[in-house]
Amino acid sequence: MKKTILLIEDEPHIVMGLRDALEFEGFSVLAAGKGKDGIALARAESPDAIVLDLMLPDMNGFAICEELRRWSAFVPIVMLTARSQETDKIRGLTAGADDYVTKPFSVNELIARVRAVLRRSQLRAAPEFVEIGTAKVSFGAHTLQALGQEYQLSFYEVELLKLLWDRAGQPVSRDEILQKIWGLDAHPTNRTVDNFIVKLRKKIEPHPDRPAHILTVYGYGYKLVVEPGSSANLESAP
Ligand code: CA
Repeated sequence: MKKTILLIEDEPHIVMGLRDALEFEGFSVLAAGKGKDGIALARAESPDAIVLDLMLPDMNGFAICEELRRWSAFVPIVMLTARSQETDKIRGLTAGADDYVTKPFSVNELIARVRAVLRRSQLRAAPEFVEIGTAKVSFGAHTLQALGQEYQLSFYEVELLKLLWDRAGQPVSRDEILQKIWGLDAHPTNRTVDNFIVKLRKKIEPHPDRPAHILTVYGYGYKLVVEPGSSANLESAP
C-alpha cells in the first residue's frame, strides 16, 4: 500500500518540488499551507509521516508539532527549518519532531530522511509483542496471550486495538474508530464498536466488567491504559 506523506509548508515552489519527487518515489502526497489546515488534515487522513515547515503564516512550527504529538504519539515528523541554530534543532526535537532538515536542502536528502523515519516507525509500530497489563499482543501474528490463554484476533479486533495502542492514554472517539477502521462505505453503528470492545475486554481484562485497560469515556469513546497505576491488585487476582 502507498504511504501517505503530509506536507505542511507555505512556500508553493517547495511544495511543488517535494510533491513531484515524493510521488515519483511512490508516495501519496497531501499538502497544507497553514498550520491549522495541516493539523486538520492529519486528523482526517492519518498520514504515515509529516514534513513540517517551522515558519508558517498562522502558527509557529513548534506549536504545530506539539499539537500533532497530542494527536498521535507515533506519527513520524520531519521538521524543515530555515535556520541552522542548534537551539532550533533541539527545540524541534523536544517539541516531538523525529528529525529535521535545514533549508536549503536537497530533495533527495529529505526523501532519505522521510524513508528513515518511516522505517523506524514501522519497527516501533510492529514490535514482536506489545504488553497491555498482563496481556501480550502480536499485531503481526494477530494473537493475544493473556491469563494463560492464547486467542486468535480478528482483523477488526487487531485494527481497533492498534488504534487504541497508538493513542494510549488518550480518549479516541467512537466516530473516529468507525471512520478509521470500518471506513465510510460500510454501515456499522456505534454498537459495532461497543461489541468489539466487549470482545477485547473479555480477552485482556482480568475482570471484564470492571475494566482496567480499555476504559469507557462516557458519551465519547474509549481509552487504552497500558499500565494502570492501581493494576497490582487486579493483576494478582485469581
Ligand atoms: Ca515557510
